[in-house]
Formats: sequence, C-alpha cells, structure tokens
Amino acid sequence: CGIVGVLGHHEVAPLLVEALKRLEYRGYDSAGIATVNAGRLDRRRAVGKLVNLSDLLVHEPLAGKAGIGHTRWATHGAATCTNAHPHQAGPVAVVHNGIIENFRELRAELEAAGLPPQTQTDTETVALLTRLHMQRGLDARAAAQATLARLEGAFALLFLFEGEDDLMIAARRGSPLALGHGEGEMFVGSDAIALAPLTDRITYLEEGDHAFVTRAGAQIFDAAGRPVTRETLRIELSQ
Ligand code: GLU
Repeated sequence: CGIVGVLGHHEVAPLLVEALKRLEYRGYDSAGIATVNAGRLDRRRAVGKLVNLSDLLVHEPLAGKAGIGHTRWATHGAATCTNAHPHQAGPVAVVHNGIIENFRELRAELEAAGLPPQTQTDTETVALLTRLHMQRGLDARAAAQATLARLEGAFALLFLFEGEDDLMIAARRGSPLALGHGEGEMFVGSDAIALAPLTDRITYLEEGDHAFVTRAGAQIFDAAGRPVTRETLRIELSQ
C-alpha cells in the first residue's frame, strides 16, 4: 500500500518509519522495514499500527544507512507478521504495492526449483524468483530485471540486496513511484508526500519504468529497457 526507501548518510530506521507515517492516511494492516548494515540484510515487521513497529524497533533495533519500508493492505494472505513486507528470500528483500496476477504459476515454478514459498502472499514470489536468478549467477541488477520481465499485474516494487548498501531497484507498472534527490542521498516513495521532510526534488517514474538507484542518483530505463531521462521537478509539499 505504501512504499518508502532511503539510501542515506544517517541511520535510516527512524526516517523510514517517519516516511511511512506520512502514508498512514491510505490505510494499512501491518508494516515493516528492512536495512542493509555492514552488508547484512535484516528486517522487522509488525501487525497493526506503525507504533507497534516503532515499539519493536526499540527492543530490536535495526541499524543501517540503506533501507526500505512498507505499510501493507493485504490482498493475498491474511494480515499476519509472516505475510507482512518486506519479503526476504536469501540475499534480496522486496516491498510491493498492488497485485502479481501470475503468482500461482510462479509459485509452482519456484516449488519445482526448490524454493517453496513460506507465505500466502503474491509478493514473496518476487523475492524468491530474484533469489533464484541470483543463485543461477545473475547479479542483483540483472536478477531484478529478469524477475520484472516475468511479472504480470499492476504494481510498484522496491528491492534491496545483501552486500549492496548503495543500491535500491525501483519498478513502476500501474502503481506510482517517485524518486527523491538529496545531497548525496536518494529516496523512494509511492507518494512524494512521504518524502516531503527529506527533499523537494522529485522524479516521477513513468509507466513501465524501472530504476537502479544509488546515492549518486538514478539510472532509469523505460518499459523496453532503454535508458531514459525523466524530468526532476522541484515540488512544494506541505511539511
Ligand atoms: N498484494 C500484496 C500483499 O497482499 C501487496 C498489498 C499492498 O499493496 O499493500 O501483500
């Protein structure tokens, strides 16, 4: 339902929770964040209000200057902690808005490949498929692209990878995503309003786009996989 991401200079957990709070108006049933810290990918998730996630983070902090976050409005699978995002499969974590229409077919393929899903969500298939591509030798970027090529439906996705504390991969198909530009920092939000305290320089991904986001900026590709330039706007958002 709500997606945020930060490649920052500071600890991102509080920034992610704060950005998710700005998306609370959209409604949600659970929330979670994942970070990369010293190369290690880890996550925290909680059912119910964001305050439950904040409480959990007090007791089980999550360090790291790169991270992604999500507020979930369940479409496939009950509103449980197991089904909450981010979904992690080995070296990859994913947050997702929308629906992967062909997830049943993908689940069957993943089971056959020895990666049976552990949750009831459509989203987990995205993480597992990317893991499978990486097991088969693709790097993070190529694996995400190979996964995106297999997905049907309307969605926005944000990927984070073990060992990569300067990379997020964002994809937009039928569900909005905005990139935010800071000073040597980059942000992602499903709604630019989530990024208002962080930056006022926004690049909206267009339909079918995906982007390799690093602290230095974003490399954007269109639906045909061609590198493209999208305008960066200075927008006025209420703080
Ligand atoms: N279909 C996904 C799920 O049920 C994402 C739902 C959402 O947009 O929050 O987990």
